[in-house]
Amino acid sequence: MADRYSVTGVHPLDPAERRVLERAETEGIELVRFIYADHGGVIRGKATSRSRLAERLGSGIGHTVAMMAMNMLDQLQEVEGLGPVGEVRLVPDPATFVALPYAPGAAAMLSDLREVDGSPWAACPRTFLREAVAALASEGLVAVAAYEPEFTLGRRVPGQGGERDRLAPVDDSLCYATSGFDLAHDYAMSLVRALQAQGLRVEHYHPELGHGQQELSIRHAQAMRAADNQVIYRETVRGVAHRMSMWASLAPKPLADQAGNGAHLHISLWDPELRTNMFSAPSDRYGLSTTAYRFIGGLIAHLPALTALTCGSVNGFRRLAPRMWSSAYACYGMDNREAAVRICSPMRGAAEASVNLEIKPSDSSANPYLSLGAVIHAGLDGIRRGLDPGEAVNVDPDTLPEGSVPRLPRSLDEALDALEADDVLMDALGPLRASAYLAVKRSEARAFAAEDASYELFHHFRVF
Ligand code: GLU
Ligand code: MG
Repeated sequence: MADRYSVTGVHPLDPAERRVLERAETEGIELVRFIYADHGGVIRGKATSRSRLAERLGSGIGHTVAMMAMNMLDQLQEVEGLGPVGEVRLVPDPATFVALPYAPGAAAMLSDLREVDGSPWAACPRTFLREAVAALASEGLVAVAAYEPEFTLGRRVPGQGGERDRLAPVDDSLCYATSGFDLAHDYAMSLVRALQAQGLRVEHYHPELGHGQQELSIRHAQAMRAADNQVIYRETVRGVAHRMSMWASLAPKPLADQAGNGAHLHISLWDPELRTNMFSAPSDRYGLSTTAYRFIGGLIAHLPALTALTCGSVNGFRRLAPRMWSSAYACYGMDNREAAVRICSPMRGAAEASVNLEIKPSDSSANPYLSLGAVIHAGLDGIRRGLDPGEAVNVDPDTLPEGSVPRLPRSLDEALDALEADDVLMDALGPLRASAYLAVKRSEARAFAAEDASYELFHHFRVF
């Protein structure tokens, strides 16, 4: 396998790679972006011209290891092994090729970061998720997932007299109000068409509570595809807005006084043939199997640490407040929108297939591969150790006496402390990834603590 990624000459192309070349040719693609998500949660990449695509499919494009030590302010952190010396390759997955409707002439592929000889690199996020999927497979289970992102549609208004730019929301329409549909209609149409043209299946769309807030969900898929979809989605939400001289932000809380943008993570576990939903047990009062309860037990046990990966930014913790339906407490409940883990009521006519868990402390500033991989590891730990999640909480946990339900971390630093103390997640990350992630995120916590709130809001709506 390794020599397929040899940097010398063109390796023999497999059928998927040949299809990429044909599509690039027939669809008039000049530049193909090899993109990845970094430890800051930022999507970055490099592009190759069509004329070099055949060889780059195999060899990838060279990239400095240091980029996995870069934070979301483009401040490079000191991490052993991620300095100025050293090289990895951005090696694209041909199955993820998409022509970009918002960037005519360009296409993109989700990429692994690989060693120069083609072997997996210890800080590659897609590899982390692939390993989590393999760990689950060793228990005879397959994860099916979908991120359900919200975002704020608006315009970037230049700051006057040295002030920072502002995000001005496109409307102040009411939650689910039809006037909100009308005000965002042209953008919504372009977005739906662009997502569908890239093979993402749009499920639902509505304007939501916050000013300019939109929610558009994508159909579930197997774990790697679900994470790839979240990257394509983030790119498309922003790219379509730029084409229309607008600004769309998936930042968790781009406007301090408005509802936050979640990216709730829906997940269920299936048998290897994807015939049986292993979370479903119709005789149970909540329709859940023992496997599902144990998975929840694992989630609850690891939640404080998990949030460091599923809500990957300083701004993400501004969102996790009580009574915002974003969840602020480490509990689960039946259709409880204030619980960190919501058991979703099944769909009539597809009761068993539709049983799934919704993880609310999850947002689009996270690296989706690290986030979903960590969720799988946490749940798997619950399955392996037979963890009992305790009783469901079917009221707003904020109405219960203080201390009866544990609060989620209130800041990125608090979540990072929990992550450092969590052996299961630290082992799963491995030393290089863990030290880089902690260094990058600690540096962001420091940088934003030294400035006022408007600095944090500005940089998050600019980047996410
Ligand atoms: N905007 C909420 C959040 O921050 C979610 C609202 C909803 O349930 O859709 O997670
Ligand atoms: Mg919503």
